[in-house]
Amino acid sequence: MIPFLSLKDVTARYADEIHEAVNRVVDSGWYLQGAENERFEAHYAEYVGTEYCIGCGNGLDALIWIYRAYIESGIMQKGDEVIVPANTYIASVLAITENGLKAVLVEPDPETLELDENRIEEAITAQTKSILLVHLYGRCAYTEKIGELCAKYHLHLVEDNAQAHGCRYNGKRTGSLGEAAGHSFYPGKNLGALGDGGAVTTDNKELADCIRALANYGSQKKYVNQYRGRNSRLDEIQAAVLDVKLRHLDEDNSLRQKVAKCYYEGIKNPMIQLPTQLPDENNVYHLFPVLCERREELQRYLAQHDIQTLIHYPIPPHLQECYAGEWEGLSLPITERLAKQELSLPIGSCLKNEEMEKVVSAVNEFGA
Ligand SMILES: *Cc1c(COP(=O)(O)O)cnc(C)c1O
Repeated sequence: MIPFLSLKDVTARYADEIHEAVNRVVDSGWYLQGAENERFEAHYAEYVGTEYCIGCGNGLDALIWIYRAYIESGIMQKGDEVIVPANTYIASVLAITENGLKAVLVEPDPETLELDENRIEEAITAQTKSILLVHLYGRCAYTEKIGELCAKYHLHLVEDNAQAHGCRYNGKRTGSLGEAAGHSFYPGKNLGALGDGGAVTTDNKELADCIRALANYGSQKKYVNQYRGRNSRLDEIQAAVLDVKLRHLDEDNSLRQKVAKCYYEGIKNPMIQLPTQLPDENNVYHLFPVLCERREELQRYLAQHDIQTLIHYPIPPHLQECYAGEWEGLSLPITERLAKQELSLPIGSCLKNEEMEKVVSAVNEFGA
């Protein structure tokens, strides 16, 4: 069986360093807000290319804290609108609505699967304050035009970098392209912890200070509470593990890029549509999505050939039960079609040559 992603194999690649890091924390007797967090935050900020990095509980919280900080600092108000790609993972949208902001869902470009820069302007109103740009599937979603629209309409550009650790745009890392970015270290992400974890990166000191407080009961100074915060911290064991894995992130991403190259060169089945190919700098291939009108059949066919695939994502946010009535009557034909046609092929740093070749052959033989 070719698994979609074997976390056991991912961890095994760096087992010695990871065990050493975990043992160091266990033996230290210090498990929260200590030297491991400080070190990882400094290393990750340097890697991303931002002034600040604030570790927090998970990726959803990272995004929630960014918008909450905008509200606490008076830059945004409840009811303001945030533009977000309609085909994103629901966490992006939850971070907006959790803060009493309005998510304005904008269709993706069906060729790139990323937010369509040509549909943004028509969605902007007097209430629009921000774009939450999601680098979905590991592809850089930023474009010059998006930057220009943010400048023209004074929109705060926030990045959801949960799927694109290490990706670049003109040499700059995603996570440093906007005012602030949320990162997830969920185990399956390109930079994954051994449990939950997240971080915010930003160059803005006020935002950084506010977010650090929000994630720590709303307190900057012990027992003095400025905000009604919550407890959302990155623990020392995860920070130590992440610091190890960060050292190998570029190498891991280049292995993903090798798998993607094999798929782009080998997959020739006219029934399967691949997203437009980007230079490696702009895509770290968190996932490898393909589109197929007979998606269910394709998935079954691949399973019969011992290839595990997943769907990202079967139900778009606007059709989720939790959002019934939120966007009454909204029709998003591209997003809805992608939800019916998308299938993610196995990709990761541990996929062997013969495994990728087997995936290519099976995909090409489908329907023949
Ligand atoms: C994984 C993910 C999140 C949420 O991250 P968690 O750490 O699981 O909370 C947010 N946005 C996107 C696009 C994701 O893929």
